Amino acid sequence: MTNWSNSDIERMRRAIELASKGEGFVAPNPMVGCVIAAANGRIIGEGWHEQFGQSHAEVNAHRSIREEDLHLLPDSSWYVTLEPCNHQGKTPACSGLIESISPKRLVISASDTNPNVLGGGVERLRKAGIEVEVGCLEREVRWQNRRFFCNSNKQRSYVVLKWAQSSDGFMDPRSSNERTAGSGGRAITGLEATPITHKWRAQEMGIAVGVGTAVIDEPELTVRFGHGKSPRAIIIDPQERLPTSHPLLERKGLDQTLHVCRGIGKEPKHKRFWNPEDGLLSLMQKLWRQDGISSILVEGGANTLQHFLSESMWDEVKVWTASHDLNGGLKAPSWPKEAAQPPYESGSGFAGKDRWEMGIRPQDPK
Ligand SMILES: [Zn+2]
Repeated sequence: MTNWSNSDIERMRRAIELASKGEGFVAPNPMVGCVIAAANGRIIGEGWHEQFGQSHAEVNAHRSIREEDLHLLPDSSWYVTLEPCNHQGKTPACSGLIESISPKRLVISASDTNPNVLGGGVERLRKAGIEVEVGCLEREVRWQNRRFFCNSNKQRSYVVLKWAQSSDGFMDPRSSNERTAGSGGRAITGLEATPITHKWRAQEMGIAVGVGTAVIDEPELTVRFGHGKSPRAIIIDPQERLPTSHPLLERKGLDQTLHVCRGIGKEPKHKRFWNPEDGLLSLMQKLWRQDGISSILVEGGANTLQHFLSESMWDEVKVWTASHDLNGGLKAPSWPKEAAQPPYESGSGFAGKDRWEMGIRPQDPK
């Protein structure tokens, strides 16, 4: 184990902060940040991966260096939150760039688990005579990129379950028979909660609801308040009950809604065949492998959420609890007993009178 100096930790912490600026824009790529320090400790370059398909953090940090500082590069130290890529992807390999500059030292937080990258970057740069050290603030970086590591280790989408309930545990004042098609959703939380809910949406690549919620509530499932892209809508509808005229099925292009139905054989462009008896894990594998959806926010309804909970197919839960009672209606799922506090960030908070709580799955074998 390396004993990291205070300045190593400080610079890596800055690199993690830079990486977070890519949240909502780089998935399914990881968030990556890079800091370049001159021999006297002065920071001469900073960069992060800003947009999927565009240049990586190392390239952006290198580009940010002022011309009069370029001569400091041979004695510089580089801090990168993830192991530099060693394969030609959408952009040239970063280990090639670092090799050509040949700085004195490279500090990496977490090694990559992508089979095309693993070990290659570090080996290559050590052979080139650069002092390479790995593991500075690694747990923080693994947490920051938990969706990415879930994808590469488990080959499935990362799953976040979300719902809102009254203080006595109901999701809707109406019982199931009173909930009719197109009657709309009933907001449980106040207006102050909306920006936070929309921020949660922007953090994930997909947003899933069961067919019941799609038909009754007709939700838009978009990010209207806050910063970031709207996730791709996914409707879980094994019996194909959703009318073809439903507004969610009218989206076109890259945002086209994915309609998950029972079936076999060749899938029409916007349909994904899935049979519930194969389990939700197989659906999460399919949506990752076939559509590159790195993470999914499951927003309801109660039945759909309950299926994910009973199959233990979740990584995070986010629940709003309002301050008022409903005294009956549609029962909300129960908070999973095994859920643990998230590391490195707050696991609860308030917006107006509503309280949110976040729990994570402590250890996931799947
Ligand atoms: Zn790279």
